[in-house]
Amino acid sequence: MNNNNYLWEIVLSDIKKEVSDQVFNTWFTNSFIDKVDFNNKKITIISENILISDYLKSVFDPKFKTSLKNNTSIDFDIEYSYIGENKSIIEDKRIPEPSPDSFIKEKFLAKDKPSGMQNFTKQPSFIFEDYKEPEKKAVPLKNNKNKGLNRNFTFDNFVIGEGNNLAYNVALSVVEYPGVHNPFFIYGGVGLGKTHLLHAIGNELEKNNPDFKIECVSSEKFINEFVQSIRSNSKDQNLDEKFRNKYRNVDALLIDDIQFLADKKETQNTFFHTFNELHMNDKQIVLVSDRPPSQLDGLEDRLVSRFDSGVISDITPPDYETRFAIISFKCEKYQLKVDDNIISYIAGNITGNIRELEGVLKEIDIITKRTNKPVTIHMAEDIIKRRVKSSKKKIVPDDIINTTSDFFKISIDDILSSKRNKELVYPRMIAMYLCRELTDLSLPAIGKLFNKDHSSIFYSINKVSTFLNENENNIVDTIENIKEKLNNK
Ligand code: ADP
Ligand code: MG
Repeated sequence: MNNNNYLWEIVLSDIKKEVSDQVFNTWFTNSFIDKVDFNNKKITIISENILISDYLKSVFDPKFKTSLKNNTSIDFDIEYSYIGENKSIIEDKRIPEPSPDSFIKEKFLAKDKPSGMQNFTKQPSFIFEDYKEPEKKAVPLKNNKNKGLNRNFTFDNFVIGEGNNLAYNVALSVVEYPGVHNPFFIYGGVGLGKTHLLHAIGNELEKNNPDFKIECVSSEKFINEFVQSIRSNSKDQNLDEKFRNKYRNVDALLIDDIQFLADKKETQNTFFHTFNELHMNDKQIVLVSDRPPSQLDGLEDRLVSRFDSGVISDITPPDYETRFAIISFKCEKYQLKVDDNIISYIAGNITGNIRELEGVLKEIDIITKRTNKPVTIHMAEDIIKRRVKSSKKKIVPDDIINTTSDFFKISIDDILSSKRNKELVYPRMIAMYLCRELTDLSLPAIGKLFNKDHSSIFYSINKVSTFLNENENNIVDTIENIKEKLNNK
């Protein structure tokens, strides 16, 4: 180590006293002092990328200066830079790349590792040996359902890999310093963990700041509430105000699937003002989308440029190692005993997204619990073959309505009717949910099918999602069973 970095070590030892291990490991372990110019009282701190560099500058600059002053009696000016041509310096510090399976088994699956240790990654920002279990802050989660947070989506059960490493790191920093990366915009394809990360941010923010007002909402729900607020405006002025208050008086606003705001001009206008107000007051905004801001057609330019002004991070599909790690992690969670060669087989064959991986595991779970037989490679093979076949098959709403009524032993006329008996309402809700999940139909189109307006469809689908989160009445099995029947048709 050269003298410059001896100085850096001293600064870091001061910083370490003030931040959690998790933040320290994420943001500081791969930065270093490149130049010390005593004549001009200038030093240069080099980081791994522009994001880290900006972050250190915006958040830690005063702390670095104080520490430098205390330790050297010099008032240094600090320049910040990041690795460009100098990449080799960082490369040298990387841990050697081990063979994937043995690496994952050794580092990630070791039984004696505490939970939360699922951070294996080849990225230098997380050197595994340095990783320490984050300090647990003993603040119980309040059961405030209004916040729209799914309690199952936490950082603890989010597996880190190459495709989501950056998004995860920014998410951690958003939680640690709300309002600094604003807005934080996450985008990526389906089933890659965007919603999971969004809710994890909300849950952790709440844990760290029990008094925070947090709203986590899908843009569909946001639009729906907005439409209702203006619709009833003539009758009830309060509703409009309620809507405004709900979203403008928060410490953090988390919105999922923001792409659905496209072409909703009036909602966009309201959202624009909400956004500005929150942003001006340094209230954290996190947005999730299926594409980057620049590709959000139908979204006003002024909104796109607001989104562009924050930190944008994408999530890309998991590589083999990450898939292997996710399957292993979920098997432990479901208490499923699955051999490594079977995990490897699944990881090698399901390459699309994490929701699909979960689908395979859920089927394995159902089958093994029903038959009481151990998991075999043939079982995995069958399930995967069937899923691949069915993903090619197009499911139409008629199939869903027929199969769901058949499953619940009710007539098609009844499922499509407006009768309010409990035995009919529940299957109807499930059919609506499946139409949304398995077909391309919009909410109004599903509404037409069931003779309802899109807001009651929205309400029903939301209800099913809530039931699914809590597995009320064993709804997960019910839905999996109906899907199985649909696929076997
Ligand atoms: P998206 O919103 O990107 O479509 P979700 O966040 O709904 O995807 O993720 C789909 C499923 O996969 C969820 O059940 C989620 O918990 C799981 N999942 C996604 N990413 C991860 C991850 N990195 N680790 C563990 N589970 C994950
Ligand atoms: Mg999602």
